[in-house]
Amino acid sequence: MDSLDSRARLLLRQLPSVDELLQEPSIRGLIESVPRWAVVEAVREVLDRWRRIVAAGPSGSSQTDPPLRAALVAEAQEAARRRDRPALRRVINATGVIVHTNLGRAPLPEAAIERIVEVAQGYSNLEYDLERGARRSRQAHVEWLLCRLTGAEAALAVNNNAAAVLLAINTLAEGKEVIVSRGELVEIGDSFRIPDIMRRAGGILREVGTTNRTYLRDYETAVGGATAMLLKVHTSNFRILGFAADVPVSELVALGQQRGLPVVEDVGSGALLDLSQIGLPKEPLPSESVRAGADLVTFSGDKLLGGPQAGLIVGKRSLVERLRLNPLARAVRIDKLTLAALEATLRLCLDAERAFSDIPVLRALALPLREVDRRAARLCEQIATLASGQLEVSVISGVSEVGGGALPLEAIPTRLVAVRARHLTSQVIEGRLRRTDPPVMVRIKDGQVLLDPRTVPESGLEELARLVASIAGP
Ligand SMILES: *Cc1c(COP(=O)(O)O)cnc(C)c1O
Repeated sequence: MDSLDSRARLLLRQLPSVDELLQEPSIRGLIESVPRWAVVEAVREVLDRWRRIVAAGPSGSSQTDPPLRAALVAEAQEAARRRDRPALRRVINATGVIVHTNLGRAPLPEAAIERIVEVAQGYSNLEYDLERGARRSRQAHVEWLLCRLTGAEAALAVNNNAAAVLLAINTLAEGKEVIVSRGELVEIGDSFRIPDIMRRAGGILREVGTTNRTYLRDYETAVGGATAMLLKVHTSNFRILGFAADVPVSELVALGQQRGLPVVEDVGSGALLDLSQIGLPKEPLPSESVRAGADLVTFSGDKLLGGPQAGLIVGKRSLVERLRLNPLARAVRIDKLTLAALEATLRLCLDAERAFSDIPVLRALALPLREVDRRAARLCEQIATLASGQLEVSVISGVSEVGGGALPLEAIPTRLVAVRARHLTSQVIEGRLRRTDPPVMVRIKDGQVLLDPRTVPESGLEELARLVASIAGP
């Protein structure tokens, strides 16, 4: 304190105490809408911050003047509200990336949300057979659906696809070799790498072929006494183009049968419906892999399937049974709310027409360009009206992305609303949109902020326009 000059000491004394600030009428009023703990912490934080600024000395002169009490109060109110806000919350995805891993991947179908609410509210027959009056596996609720949709004999749902692959390798190949093509040793997201999962699952990776070309004879030569499994992995988020060759799962199946080895295929994004129906290239379908004879097929629930986070395993009954009995299956077991949402989503998939209209991921993929165009025009007009000349908006052509590691080369034509302001950089606009409530996530390209209405439902356009207009101004 001795090192403080007299001016700083005076300023420090002028700062109210925590109790004084808590007695301010507008702070006391805040306690009706914000929990007391958040208000107290916020007041402490604001006062601490100002004590530090003042104590730092006169060098920052104009900055060290404590704000008027009204400003302190306003700062504390904002800090209290920030603390009270849920950490995990809704954002508006105007990026046009449909399965956006950072933004929660698949928005759930209405029917799935209804099932979650019902099951979450009370007790359920999660592990009970109401017909027989006896305990039953929770898997029964979805196993028949997965079998019907993929043609498999048996199915198992776990926490996510990474867990599905882990469980398959650990059950079938612990301490033994798993043969995988070098071209398929992929990294997906920032933490799923086939070699790492292999090690943790206890399997010994036996790489065959080269990055761009692998032949059946490469697998044949590698099979030996230590081999326990042949694994094929969909390269999901990248493609090897040009001079490339890989071995179709049907040929691996023939080899597997000859040598008595199970063939497991991780198809990744797991579209249950053929996307060529809506003019997109085909992603591998689990049903095709099953038909080709793969012993187990794994895929995600929240990529192109459009449901909750889950890992789905379908295939031969005897192998699925072995996976089910592995103690790790309990560690990666699916939660009841996920199961409720998964059942509802799978039921929608039984009718392709309903799936493309009721599952948000599929609906966004199938949305015709003229419809996106109409949304973009409406959004543009609304922003222009609300921002009354402070923002320049226009509709331009661009592309949406599938995301989630699916169809990496596929650019889906879309219409974008470009937003500019004479006095704001695109980075500033993007930053302000990220702090609105709810936050708006956008793309920046060529110095422009771009909004893609493909990933914003019709019912959300007005809100989006209001939020965008709200960030105009100095
Ligand atoms: C996405 C993906 C995974 C990981 O799936 P999660 O459900 O995210 O755990 C594994 N393998 C492939 C081929 C994938 O595309």
